[in-house]
Amino acid sequence: MANQEDLFKKIISHAKEYGFIFPSSEIYDGLAAVYDYGQYGVELKNNIKQYWWNSMVRYHENIVGIDSAIFMHPTIWKASGHVDAFNDPLIDNKDSKKRYRADVLIEDYIQKIEDKINKEVEKASKRFDNFDEAMYRQTNGRVLEYQAKIDAVTARFAELMNNNDLVGLKALIDELEIVCPVSGSRNWTEVRQFNLMFATRIGSVTEGADTIYLRPETAQGIFVNFLNVYKTGRMKLPFGIAQIGKAFRNEIVARQFIFRMREFEQMEMQFFVRPGEELKWFAYWKEERKKWHLSLGMGESSYRFHDHEKLAHYANAATDIEFKFPFGFKELEGIHSRTDYDLSQHEQYSGKKLRYFDPETNESYIPYVVETSIGVDRMFLSVLSHGYEEQVLEDGSVRTVLHLPVVLAPIKVAVLPLVKKDGMPEKAREIMEMLKPEMMCQYDEKDAIGRRYRRQDAIGTPYCITVDNQTMEDQTVTIRERDSMKQYRVPIAHLLHEIKLR
Ligand code: ATP
Repeated sequence: MANQEDLFKKIISHAKEYGFIFPSSEIYDGLAAVYDYGQYGVELKNNIKQYWWNSMVRYHENIVGIDSAIFMHPTIWKASGHVDAFNDPLIDNKDSKKRYRADVLIEDYIQKIEDKINKEVEKASKRFDNFDEAMYRQTNGRVLEYQAKIDAVTARFAELMNNNDLVGLKALIDELEIVCPVSGSRNWTEVRQFNLMFATRIGSVTEGADTIYLRPETAQGIFVNFLNVYKTGRMKLPFGIAQIGKAFRNEIVARQFIFRMREFEQMEMQFFVRPGEELKWFAYWKEERKKWHLSLGMGESSYRFHDHEKLAHYANAATDIEFKFPFGFKELEGIHSRTDYDLSQHEQYSGKKLRYFDPETNESYIPYVVETSIGVDRMFLSVLSHGYEEQVLEDGSVRTVLHLPVVLAPIKVAVLPLVKKDGMPEKAREIMEMLKPEMMCQYDEKDAIGRRYRRQDAIGTPYCITVDNQTMEDQTVTIRERDSMKQYRVPIAHLLHEIKLR
């Protein structure tokens, strides 16, 4: 665990040192849980968004995109349930003065027991060859005991959360003897409800000005435009509306870099289907989204599905795609079958009919919805943390390299003249001009070639092209691959064909 924490710290400082992510307002000592993306960060982030957008909008003929405003009519958040129910239960430790989410404290407690089970299983599999019956019984007994504890705590926890029972949550924290990770004490306050929406006022005079909210999710912008898109796009069920945009949540606990931010970006798609067909489409989108993640080549073992035991009041099925971050498996994406809840609520609150006329059955009804929702920033963190490696080379030296998926890498190609003379810089510039329209390239002539390769490794550039003496004679260059560090010569005229962008 200590190693993983160490690794996470290194990733955070690497992200800053190489212009990926800076703390917001840094010269004023920063603003908690808000971050700025630097010169490479913005490229990587844009590539993530483009990759998602293409997979949704370009490759699905029945999905279209929109870009709705962040400010919306305040009644939308009443209708969606966010004003009344978008709360987290918070609790403070009186000794450390640290604030926690009560539900997260209990989830972490459950996770610790799960870790114990995993350890038992690991221990047993190591001693597989001389594992006798007594040992089996002992291990099995311990695992069953842990599992029973998990089941009991999970069931009670789900019930308390479903009933919004804050007193019960506090009692459970006391009973489980959960301590504050900072002070180590059990000196807790009561549990209180905390609404996560940021409110502000619209209008020129404070008096009479309306309270509006910064949207905590982009989905509602899609629901309130359902009719517009359905009518103007002549859409037929099933169809989807996709959107990428900022969302804001006043998170209580914001200590995990860009995993939990107060201002972040979401990529959401609402897929409208016939009532009764939602579970079929839910299964379809689970599979589609899994394929999307796997297409990036970060390995099947980096992901797991976590089906929700506790369903939000509007959902009839929900799952999280969890990613193996340096701090463990955590939610990267949510897939939810949201029933007709949102459109029904908006129909009721707005007084406008939000129905689909089905030409096949001659019926008109409110469609059901399956949603896929992923955070851009969490996706960013997943590729960054998965890609980061301090690789020990054969000669004992260490290179820091980001094995980013090629399609997402901020710079695809660096063009490097071996020396700053003999026409090599000019040749390199010519190659830059040839490649620029196709991909993001960088020219670098400073320092020895080895150091330049390392700089490109550190920002995840998959290819370096070196212009040398031979180039001037036969119009060939060296391509050096980031991951294998292999080098091979190709004619300049073949470069566009040789460089694989995915
Ligand atoms: P969590 O349980 O981690 O708070 P959530 O279940 O509230 O997440 P959703 O409301 O389902 O998250 O939001 C969809 C996606 O938006 C999440 O899977 C995540 O990738 C992203 N997301 C949510 N909250 C944040 C945040 N504070 N910072 C960064 N990304 C976020």
